[in-house]
Formats: sequence, structure tokens, C-alpha cells
Amino acid sequence: MTGAAHGPPDLSGYGDGTRCVHAGLPEPVPGEPFLPGPVFAAPYHLDPAAEPYATTPNGYGRPDNPTRRGLEAAIGELEGGDCLAFASGQAAITAVLLSVLRPGDRVLLPTDGYFPVRAFATETLAGLGVRVDFVPTAGPYPALDGVRLVLVETPANPGLDVCDVAELAERAHAAGALLAVDNTTATPLGQQPLDLGADLVVASGTKALTGHSDLLLGYVASRNAELLDAVRAWRTTTGSIPGAFDAWLAHRSLATLDLRLARQSANAAAVAVALRDRSDVRGVRWPGLPDDPAYPVASRQLRRVPGIVSFDLGDAGRVARFLTASRLVFAATSFGGLHTSADRRAQWGDDVPAGFVRFSCGVEDTADLLADLHAALDAADGRQRTDPRQ
Ligand SMILES: *Cc1c(COP(=O)(O)O)cnc(C)c1O
Repeated sequence: MTGAAHGPPDLSGYGDGTRCVHAGLPEPVPGEPFLPGPVFAAPYHLDPAAEPYATTPNGYGRPDNPTRRGLEAAIGELEGGDCLAFASGQAAITAVLLSVLRPGDRVLLPTDGYFPVRAFATETLAGLGVRVDFVPTAGPYPALDGVRLVLVETPANPGLDVCDVAELAERAHAAGALLAVDNTTATPLGQQPLDLGADLVVASGTKALTGHSDLLLGYVASRNAELLDAVRAWRTTTGSIPGAFDAWLAHRSLATLDLRLARQSANAAAVAVALRDRSDVRGVRWPGLPDDPAYPVASRQLRRVPGIVSFDLGDAGRVARFLTASRLVFAATSFGGLHTSADRRAQWGDDVPAGFVRFSCGVEDTADLLADLHAALDAADGRQRTDPRQ
């Protein structure tokens, strides 16, 4: 039999780069592409003589799509669980909240996490009779008795505090609560919440996971089939699915995740040190800096440190002058992309100082990025750009 040595490989023993390249690919078939193109279908042909779904998972596009299944297999491989893809991170997070929580339940959310999640909780969940409590990511965490679900975001966006997932999972389970971890900032290569004991991973795939700033995506991952069935039922009835083309683009982008994160993290390490050493920049945070408050937990828990640095330039005008003067840093409100970008979080309602900047390192050359950063910071204060290439 030709090709008998092939098949969807068991990727468990391989390194990150190998797993990213091979995750979710179909079995090699001569004449077929490595990653088949997107399957665009609302309905599929049915076998008129058989029950729907008896011979194929493809019946209608909302419950299932082969391109989406490939992406879910890939992300599931990286997270170490089963995965459901969603139209956006918000779709995934709200799907978990609404399919797990019932009136009278109590949920614990981060004070310093992604702000639309907090807004959804106080506006919608509280209105449905769910008791919503908040706790800073860095703790201290209250007693969890009577809590149904703890959702943490670690490292938190944008403040970059972290919490100890293994310890919280133990405490949550002892109290009969579920633990969900927003893994957006770390990505599955940076942190493995299911291995650390979390029941659910939720994430935005819009950011570093796909990294090209050209699509929105979300996912839920879990090893608990019952929980995932409830979330799947929610997704099917609410229809919060990604389109086939976005699912395909996302799967294509995953292959380079290891490479992208390596450069982003290296750039962030250099940027964090450069900023810390400047007397005109305050409050530099990067969990990889040994004197960062997040370092003790981050250095145990993170397999790699994200490419995001936060700092304070004092006021909105100075941030605007910095971003205007920079030639490489795009002003944009996302992170984890190939292109270095930054934004002033207070303009979006985050509870941070007016001059707080979230700086997302792309994959540019480190030396170019540092030269541009220094020159733009100098120019923001009216000093001449020190960049020799000006
Ligand atoms: C962006 C983000 C989300 C929401 O994701 P979308 O894809 O924009 O809906 C959720 N959590 C975190 C931590 C995020 O950064």
C-alpha cells in the first residue's frame, strides 16, 4: 500500500514549530493540496435515502463546515483539548457565559480584563439575574464558595498582570466552581490552561493566534465534553460561527505562530529594557522583566512571554506626538499582529492613566524597532529624531 506510513500525525512528541505547521492538516492524498481551500457551502448534497448526518458530518453550514473543522482540529491540538471556533473572541466568551450561567448564579470576572466582557456582564448578565463580582487579576481572590464560574484573563489585557492558574483551578474545584481562562494574550504556545487545570479556555483568535490583522475569530477549548456540548448547542442556535474563508485564513496563519511569537517576544524583551532605561517613560510593564510584579508567577506559568509591553507617557498629547513621529509603529487598537502597533487605552474606556500605552511588538528587525522607538520618543518632546536614517 503506498502512503501507508502517512496519516494525520500524532503530534504529541513534537516541538511547537512542528506542531504549528502540521496541526489540523488532513491526511496526505496525492494530487491534493496540503491545506485544502475554503469550502463555501450553506447546504450540502444529502443522501435522500439516509438520515441526515448518518454518512457525512456535512448537512448544513451553521452546525458544521469542513474548513472550520480543520481549524478546530488545529487549535484543539495546540490547546490540548477539543475546540469550537466562533465568529469573534466576544462571541466565544459570551457563548461560555450564557451557556454556563443561570439566574441566581454568581460569576467572578477580572476588574482589569478586556472591557467589553465587563460591560457585557454588568449590562446583560446582571440583567438576567446573574450576580457579577470583580477581582483584580493579581488578586487577592475571595473565597469561591457559591461561585459558579471564575473567568480570568492572564496575562490581563492591557495591564499585563498575571494570576496562578493551577492554584485557582484547585480552589475553584474545591468550591464546586468552574474555571475559564482567557488565553488571548499568551496563545496556546505561551500558556496551556487546560494542563494547568482550567475547565475551559476562551480566546480571541483575532490577535496573536492568527497575527495578520485581517480577520476576527474566537474559540472555546475544553476537555469536558458535556460543557463543550452545551457551548456547541449555543453556537448552533445563535449562529455565531466564523465564515469559511476566515476559518481557512486563520488555519493558514497558524503555521507561522511559533516563528511570529519568537520574534515578537524577542522584540518585546528589547523594547521593555529600552523603555525602562529611559527617564522620560514611566510604569513599564512586561511580565518577562525580572523586576516586573508579574514575573514570579509568569516565569513559572508562561512557556513564552507575549510581545506586548505597556507604559505611561503621561498624557494624551504626548502619546499622539509619539505615534505621529514614529515611522514603524501603527496607531491601531489590536495587538499580536505582524506589524508593531500601539494605542492609548484610556480612549477606549479602559481604567488606566491617560497616557497609558499598550505597545504590541511585531516581527520587524529589533534594531529598526528600537531606533524608531527612541527617535519617536525624542521627537514627541521636541528633541530631534536621533534615528540616523531620517
Ligand atoms: C480582543 C480580545 C477579546 C475579544 O476578541 P474579539 O475577537 O475582538 O471579539 C477578548 N479577550 C481579550 C483578552 C482580547 O484581547
